[in-house]
Amino acid sequence: MSQTDITLRKIFQAQKRIAGMVRHTPLVESPSMSDRLGKSILLKLECLQKTGSFKLRGAANALLSLSDAQKEKGVLAFSTGNHGRAVAYVAGRFGIKCVVCLSERVPQYRVAAMEKFGAIVVQKGKSQDDAYEVALKLEKDENLTMIKPFDDPLVIAGQGTIGLEILNRAPHVDTLVVPVSGGGLAAGVAKVLKTADPSIKIIGVSMECAPAMYHSIKAGKPVEVEEKDSLADALLGGIGLDNQFTFSMVEKYVDTIELVSEKEIEKGILFAYEHHGILIEGAAAVTLAWLLKPEIEVPGNHIAGILSGGNVDKNLAFDILSRYLSPKEKSIT
Ligand SMILES: *Cc1c(COP(=O)(O)O)cnc(C)c1O
Repeated sequence: MSQTDITLRKIFQAQKRIAGMVRHTPLVESPSMSDRLGKSILLKLECLQKTGSFKLRGAANALLSLSDAQKEKGVLAFSTGNHGRAVAYVAGRFGIKCVVCLSERVPQYRVAAMEKFGAIVVQKGKSQDDAYEVALKLEKDENLTMIKPFDDPLVIAGQGTIGLEILNRAPHVDTLVVPVSGGGLAAGVAKVLKTADPSIKIIGVSMECAPAMYHSIKAGKPVEVEEKDSLADALLGGIGLDNQFTFSMVEKYVDTIELVSEKEIEKGILFAYEHHGILIEGAAAVTLAWLLKPEIEVPGNHIAGILSGGNVDKNLAFDILSRYLSPKEKSIT
């Protein structure tokens, strides 16, 4: 199988398969961002998706495609959090055994969320790649089916259903702004939009401190990056040195990958709260962070930005908000 097998038809099939499982999330205008940029800015609120992120789409598409024998044995995921949570949720709904392997960097509130859905959590190692090694061993030893977080045709097709929803609601969109980590989200959505109209611009956004896809695209092949602490913790992790699908799809369909700083991510979180009354996580805030950068030139006139998740540590969010919303710094966005 190659990236050309991830067709628009597969994404429509995914949409049908997961329809009962996922929420058709709102696409709302952001009047304050539209005013700021003098363009129409729409925000796709995947932070309101069930389980708190878009990852449910890919996970549901992969799990619902398993054979009965595979369902009986159980599934396995390795994740920085949201993918594990989504797999745990779907598995829990269907009574499928689910093991999630996480690095010790994954914050405790994310672990608790998975355990709540009945998943067995194994937390080991310093990075996503370490968690992957543990998962590979378990896959063999316990005969579980691995549900990959991004580099899987069914997962990419599931995330692509966001593109169908955007085009259905706003067929005039000419630019997409999308967070990028392993690239499953960007690959799926970009596939839909570029197939509909190759002139639609796709702008991926990552965090400055550890942007694996950004460095990989620059190098012309998947490369490793050192993991660092970031507010966008759901964007951490490599793209896999043996990447089969997302690297080449991002290379083909994503026009540019832009980077934002931790400070800018904070402003994105603040903007969503101040202007839309929603809490988003750092990985979702990169979309707003980039649009808020004073020096950028945003192409097109009808922009859709994906707010990919809302699973933020409430104490951390409160900390950021209270810092900015003090009287002195009030007008920051
Ligand atoms: C996983 C995730 C991303 C990045 O998605 P990829 O498919 O890995 O590029 C962005 N935002 C949130 C909230 C996520 O959980």
